[in-house]
Amino acid sequence: MGKPRFRIAPSPTGSLHIGNARTALYNFLASRKLGGDFILRIEDTARDRSKIEYERTIIDGLHWLGINWDEGPDLGGSYGPYRQSERLQIHKEFLQILIDRGYTYHCFCSREELAFERELAQKQGRAPKYSGKCRDLSDEEVSSRLDAGEEATIRFRVEPRIVGLDDIVMGKIEEDAGLWGDFVLARSDGTPVYNFAVVVDDHLMDISHVVRGADHISNTFKQIMMYEALDLERPRFGHMPLTLNAKRQKLSKRDGSVAVEEYREQGYLPEAVVNFIALLGWNPGDEREMFSMNELINVFSMDRITTSNAIFDVARLDWFNGVYVRKMSTDQLAHRANDYLSDLGYFSSNPTRSSNDWSHLNGVPVPPHDWPSMNYFIAALELEKERIRKFAELPELMNFFFVEDIYADTSQLISKKHSQSDTRAALVRVAELVGLQGVNKMDTVEKYMRSLADDLGWRAGDLFMPVRIALTGSRATPPLFETMKVLGDQRVLHRLNKAVEQLSS
Ligand code: GLU
Repeated sequence: MGKPRFRIAPSPTGSLHIGNARTALYNFLASRKLGGDFILRIEDTARDRSKIEYERTIIDGLHWLGINWDEGPDLGGSYGPYRQSERLQIHKEFLQILIDRGYTYHCFCSREELAFERELAQKQGRAPKYSGKCRDLSDEEVSSRLDAGEEATIRFRVEPRIVGLDDIVMGKIEEDAGLWGDFVLARSDGTPVYNFAVVVDDHLMDISHVVRGADHISNTFKQIMMYEALDLERPRFGHMPLTLNAKRQKLSKRDGSVAVEEYREQGYLPEAVVNFIALLGWNPGDEREMFSMNELINVFSMDRITTSNAIFDVARLDWFNGVYVRKMSTDQLAHRANDYLSDLGYFSSNPTRSSNDWSHLNGVPVPPHDWPSMNYFIAALELEKERIRKFAELPELMNFFFVEDIYADTSQLISKKHSQSDTRAALVRVAELVGLQGVNKMDTVEKYMRSLADDLGWRAGDLFMPVRIALTGSRATPPLFETMKVLGDQRVLHRLNKAVEQLSS
């Protein structure tokens, strides 16, 4: 047996769908586990819908996930070309073999005619099936119609029988070819359709395993007929269960994000996405849930791909992401978060490169000279780490650390218990305390704040809330005293004074 060779063959008609990413991942893992090759082939034969931009998004998405291949349109290799559209001549040569062997015929039925037949079948509750009208045209008739310039597709002559295979995932499956009718192999412009081109390409690229979604099962049966008609050894096939939404329907745009790109944009960590999709249709056979890519390569086996459909549950992805966020050192996390935020344009320059020019956050220009450094970002992130599920939440969660002024109005600052002027006076006392002691010099800010509350005759919580709002603009924030330490005296005083001013009017 030769080297195992796996492939994925995405069509560049849209961005990388989460289902395709899973197919890619499983093929990648299996190839690495077995010491084989992994090939990327772009199936761009639907000329009107295929776009090079999509090919790029697919490649970027796979790289982002950490999935690499050994041969592909971007890398080349000894089995190229790796774009189906560049293999047309090869497909035509193989098509000619089938024509010469009498497996095909020309079909002159018009699109309208075929559409009518399909509709009729639907109305009568039958599965659509080509009538076979052109199956037995005489050679003379075919030649004269072609000479007259009539358009014709090439159809495969299906002889009714049971076609079966031993699927890596599903076990023995079979289908009655009598149900299909003769299917098209090449369009009237001579270009082969997917079901034909894929057989030629998988064969010539020496693919040993074709692992793809269960939605391809009916194609596989047709492809098996092609292998047989061309006398080619067929690869092993494996069909993975589908990924469904919570209502057990095929995952679609309506269910939210279905493109890997969108998860990247929302600031999920690729290692969490990989871990999540690895378990969508595969399990290690025990209770383990956390797997790095290398661990997956070690434990992956195709016989543990499940046969039941997987339910895509974004809450589970959030959970995985949160676990990965908390597992990382804050330092590491800050660098990753900073890259994410910079890509979104939050910082006009990248603090990993120039450590104190964060002149722009969230569209609010701030003076660059005394603006925070990476250390400040790390300290702030440390406080938010417990709450983060994905980086897209950071601007909202962390904005208050970076803006110059907090806008809290009077009604937010005061409570029913204490009047505006009492609250103002209390905040003046907090500002005095901070000015005198310095937040970073206090052993615990809490101790000082509590004794100040005692002094004022306030309940501690009643004092902490207006301080919290003055400093952050929000009632829900990380622990107050640590937040004060991170903000530092200057910001704390500036914000307290602003709130005092606000309460003076
Ligand atoms: N181009 C097909 C798709 O994107 C791939 C089918 C295959 O793997 O053979 O669904």
